Amino acid sequence: MREQNNERFEFDVSVVGLGAMGVIMAQAFLKQGKRVAIWNRSPGKAAALVAAGAHLCDCAEAALNASPVAIFVLLDNHATHEVLGMPGVMRALANRTIVDYTTNTKDEGLELQALLNRAGGHYVKGMIVAYPRNVGHHESHCIHTGEREAFEQHRALLEGLAGHTVFLPWDEALAFATVLHAHAFAAMVAFFEAVGASDRFGLPVSKTARLLLDTSRFFIADALEEAVRRLETGDFAGDQARLDVHADAFAHIAQSLHAQRAWTPVFDAVCQVVQRAASMGYGDQDIAATARSFARENEPGQ
Ligand code: NAP
Repeated sequence: MREQNNERFEFDVSVVGLGAMGVIMAQAFLKQGKRVAIWNRSPGKAAALVAAGAHLCDCAEAALNASPVAIFVLLDNHATHEVLGMPGVMRALANRTIVDYTTNTKDEGLELQALLNRAGGHYVKGMIVAYPRNVGHHESHCIHTGEREAFEQHRALLEGLAGHTVFLPWDEALAFATVLHAHAFAAMVAFFEAVGASDRFGLPVSKTARLLLDTSRFFIADALEEAVRRLETGDFAGDQARLDVHADAFAHIAQSLHAQRAWTPVFDAVCQVVQRAASMGYGDQDIAATARSFARENEPGQ
């Protein structure tokens, strides 16, 4: 990796793409006292950032020239290529690092890395596990992959975007991001399903939503802590509640939901999963043993 320190830069970081996420990232850097250059296809979105001290560049090339590192937060890979194809941009990539928080696939990321390397630049792929409101929060996470040396060079800057900043190899990073998002959104949809079902019972939805949140906060966090402990130690003893006890209770819950004609695809799947795990011989174990029923050797049809 070529040394960037000999070159003097007017700015610490450039942010390219001022949508919901890019604006907040630029704000986070400004709040940390960084000198921030910005560029967006529609310049009107830059007004508040300029008022807060950012410098609006008149083209993407100027944004790349302004700083050693450019944060790309564009809609998709197509938008990234549109920006890279703008006049002067390929030339401006030499000796620059792009940290790309645009959602794309591994193949698209590797292609961008190769393209940047050919232009003498460097590529770090970032995945922020956050909504814009969570950027900079001490409990938020940001996963990075791509070129480790380039990441390490800009780690201190990137740490300003999330409380936990990690770098993983490509396959590990993408696999982790995949299962993390699958889990987080499945949990959210389970919540929405429960809130929706409460309406079928004639409960006031917003009041029940708050009650569900308050009641679940400890119950679910504790259950996941316990599941992690059991998966780490291999202790699946059914000393708290056996899986077959859960399966019976879940059948009653499903009956109550169906009696109200509630549409509950998530909870119906929960019942199926637990019954299947019980039928596999995990019935006398803790509910955390359900995780073992998803193992490769237990795939349906194996
Ligand atoms: P957004 O609000 O829709 O912003 C999209 C940005 O891309 C805008 O700056 C837009 O410019 C630019 N853009 C779109 N097409 C373009 C093109 N052809 N050429 C140049 N610029 C183009 O999206 P966002 O929510 O900020 O998300 C940005 C990226 O972050 C996405 O890949 C998203 O998956 C990822 N992400 C978002 C979140 C989130 O919670 N929002 C969380 C994690 C990851 P204009 O202003 O000119 O339209």
